[in-house]
Amino acid sequence: MAKVIVITGASSGIGEATAKLLASKENKVVLGARREERLQKIFKDIEQSGGQATYLATDVSELEQVKALAQKAIDTYGRLDVWMNNAGLMPHSEFIKGRVEDWNRMIDINLRGVLYGINAALPQMRKQQSGQFINIASVAAHAVHSGGGVYSATKAGVWMISEALRQEEVAAKSHVRVTVVSPGAVSTELVDHVTDPDTKKTMENFYASVSMPSERVAQAISLAVALPEDSDINEIVMRPSNQQ
Ligand code: NDP
Repeated sequence: MAKVIVITGASSGIGEATAKLLASKENKVVLGARREERLQKIFKDIEQSGGQATYLATDVSELEQVKALAQKAIDTYGRLDVWMNNAGLMPHSEFIKGRVEDWNRMIDINLRGVLYGINAALPQMRKQQSGQFINIASVAAHAVHSGGGVYSATKAGVWMISEALRQEEVAAKSHVRVTVVSPGAVSTELVDHVTDPDTKKTMENFYASVSMPSERVAQAISLAVALPEDSDINEIVMRPSNQQ
């Protein structure tokens, strides 16, 4: 069945690949991110391939903008079936570097942004008595390495929030499903935004030899979205096959 699917962080990487794949399967996708010109280009690509999409410039760290994105889906397509909390960033650095601004951005986007997404979409899903959250965590939700303390904390937080939400929705018999997706290294723009030069170089070297295309993650998400409502893939953990 065609679904109405909102994707945050849809302007590049995993969000873009998932939007294009799900649109090619007759779903209606609603794209949110800050870079409007990128969203417009992806929207045009989808339309030219015969798919249906719309977009709205959205900063997920602003609750009113996230609510407006949910409303855009409802106004355009009359419902909201899937909300993919994907927007995120990973500016790793060791604590001694004191990059407080990066810590705050990760908390605002990776964590607060996910909570705002839930806040914006859950009431509509409850009303419909059906829906699904796809929350993008990371293998970093399950393990931490030097330089990745704040990122892992936000992604472990996404895991915890998702599991509590899943339990609440099962208890409420709302038919709202929750799927966490925890990828390993994916070749996207994520490393471009690392601000600490030493860490950035190390990460670029790592990603050059160990990473999978974002289309692989999109394929896994497509599987979780297409699963009949009587079943829920609670978590997908996936890595490039050469990642430890
Ligand atoms: P990209 O950098 O390619 O994509 C990140 C997306 O997030 C962009 O579309 C960006 O759009 C958006 N974004 C950033 N800040 C905001 C904001 N304030 N409001 C709205 N959107 C925002 O990286 P990925 O595709 O790799 O990242 C997607 C998700 O996957 C992230 O949550 C990341 O942590 C996770 N992940 C990535 C892995 C990897 O190795 N690449 C591994 C595991 C998880 P814009 O700048 O236009 O706002």
